[in-house]
This record gives sequence, structure tokens and C-alpha cells, in this order.
Amino acid sequence: MRTTWRGIVAEYAPFFGSPDPASVVTLQEGGTPLVPLDRIVRDLPVPLSLYAKIEGANPTGSFKDRGMTLAVSRAAARGARALICASTGNTSASAAAYGVRAGLRVFVVIPDGKISRGKLAQAIVHRATVIQVEGLFDQALAIVREVASTHPVALVNSVNPDRLEGQRSVAFEIVDQMGEAPDYHFLPVGNAGNITASWAGYNAYRAAGRMAGLPRMMGIQAEGAAPIVLGHVVEKPETVASAIRIGNPASWQGALDAARDSGGAISSVSDEEILEAYHLLSSREGIFCEPASAASLAGFLKRARAGAFSGGERVVCTLTGHGLKDPDAVFRSQPAEIRVPARKEEVLSVLGFS
Ligand SMILES: *Cc1c(COP(=O)(O)O)cnc(C)c1O
Repeated sequence: MRTTWRGIVAEYAPFFGSPDPASVVTLQEGGTPLVPLDRIVRDLPVPLSLYAKIEGANPTGSFKDRGMTLAVSRAAARGARALICASTGNTSASAAAYGVRAGLRVFVVIPDGKISRGKLAQAIVHRATVIQVEGLFDQALAIVREVASTHPVALVNSVNPDRLEGQRSVAFEIVDQMGEAPDYHFLPVGNAGNITASWAGYNAYRAAGRMAGLPRMMGIQAEGAAPIVLGHVVEKPETVASAIRIGNPASWQGALDAARDSGGAISSVSDEEILEAYHLLSSREGIFCEPASAASLAGFLKRARAGAFSGGERVVCTLTGHGLKDPDAVFRSQPAEIRVPARKEEVLSVLGFS
């Protein structure tokens, strides 16, 4: 009996032309839990099946690993000596880890401030060279695209098609876990690679005869960083959800196509709605995701409360990254521990036993 999940390229080898699963650079990414959110459903106007795809359970704590295994494997196979990416945090964490396994140098270019400390720690601990530019993510991305097009470093942002190809695997897994596609798939949208890739994944799986129906793709942006919803570039994107703080998404058209072709939509939620969903997940379901991840649930809740569902629908929300990546988000919004003198009576009185 084989008990170990081997990573997405080996598990779904027929869907990846190369590399040979034997030579893949992997941390056994994917195979993440699909967890029912029954406690949250109880408070909804209609009963339905709601699931969270816990992408924070990937090796570096976000879905980025699904694309990074393929992008780094192929870059290494082509003889690359170094990787480069611009990042709001999770891409750099993933590139740094997979770069180590491939024996490549890794350069990450991050925007001014706003990178959560957990993600920065990951890039540093894996010995990536971290370059902070005095500017926004979109400027950082423009720089690394130029550098990679003129110098011998492989670009591993989601504009790299290998990234998107690997990220399709989340759709394969959801279908395998549910036995069919959900009716709705909500996910946060930043650079829009994930929604583009997830939609491609459902279509590839259907073309291979693994499923029948397709889900509606529901992309959720943060109100302060909602270029696709607004229909124009946002020069100064602003949101607590730093992983989707992007004003000019690289896969803009992919997101529009996914929403249109699936009968879905791209919409936005406020930071308050994101944080409400974030705290619901942690305090009602025992799930700790990062703020950006909760945008998917926030988008779902907004529609559910507006009466958009009739009952019985099967809904999946992608929770893109782990909450431990951004512990400061907790302390910004909640009181920390209760301090008392070191006496039993003091502790008992907090317990309500005094
Ligand atoms: C990268 C990322 C996103 C945004 O995904 P895109 O593919 O850029 O739309 C959302 N949440 C988290 C945690 C991420 O790391």
C-alpha cells in the first residue's frame, strides 16, 4: 500500500507533459484538506454544502507551491542557475524553498513595507537574496520581468506559464475529493493567476472525462485593490489583505474569461468583510488562514446573505495561505493574553471560579 502523497506532478502525471515525475523538484505539495464549514453554514438563510480548500497546508504555507514545483523543475531542467520573482510574500517564500531543493540561487524583489513578517522570514531562512524596492508590487514585477528577459535568470512569477499549469492541480483535487465539481468556486484574486489556473484545471479534467459539470468561478478582490471590478488599473492599491494588494493584475484577461465562460463573476468585498470572514473561520471553524485568503469566504457570505442561493448548492472557498504567515494581523485586531500575578487564585478568578 502506498501511503505517501508524492506531490502534484507525480500524482497527476498524465496532466503534465514534463518533467518526468522522477526528476521533479518537489516538497510533496498539494493533497490539501477539503474541510466542511458546517458551523458557518448554520447561520446562513439557506442550507447548502460549504467547503474550504486549505491551501495553507502546502509545504510553504500557500498554494504557490503547486506552481513552483513545476516552474522550478522546468527551469532547472533547462539549465537555469538562478530564479527571480517579485512578490507580495508567498511567491518569494515558495521560490526560496524550491530553489534550495534545486540548488539554484534565488532573488526576490519585494515592495516597500507591507510584506508580512512570516513570509519575509521564509525567504530569509532559505537564504534567498531579498531586495526591497521603494515602490509597489506592480513596479517590482515590471522590473523582474525586464531583468529576466535580458539576463540568465528564470522568472517564477505567475506570468510564467509553468506556474499556472501546476496551479491547475487544485481543481483536480477538489473534483477527486467531492466526486464532482462544486457548483460555485470562490477564491481571492490578486494577480489573477489562481482563478485562471483553477478554471483551466476544471476544463482539463472535464476534457479527460474525469467529471461532467463545471463550477461558476467567483473571483473576489478587496475593495481598495479591485482593478478588475472597476475596469481600470488602481495606482495605489490599499487593503489589509496584503497578498491581493495588486493594482494591475498580470492575468487580468484570464480572470475575466474564467468568470464569463463559467457564468461566474468578479466582485469585491471591504476590508471589514474580509476580517469578519477571517475571524469567523478562526473562531467558529478552527481554521487559521491569512487575511487575503478570507476574501473568498467574505465574497461567498456577501452573496449568501443577499439571498443569491436557493439551498443545496455545493460551494468551495479556496483559503490560499496559512494564518501563521501574518501573525501581526491577529494582534492588530484582538486583545492579547490576560496578565495576572503568578497565583492560583488569580488564574481561578479569570476562569470564573472565584
Ligand atoms: C498569491 C496569493 C493570492 C492571490 O493569487 P493570484 O493568483 O495572484 O490571484 C491570494 N492569497 C494568497 C495567500 C496568495 O499568496
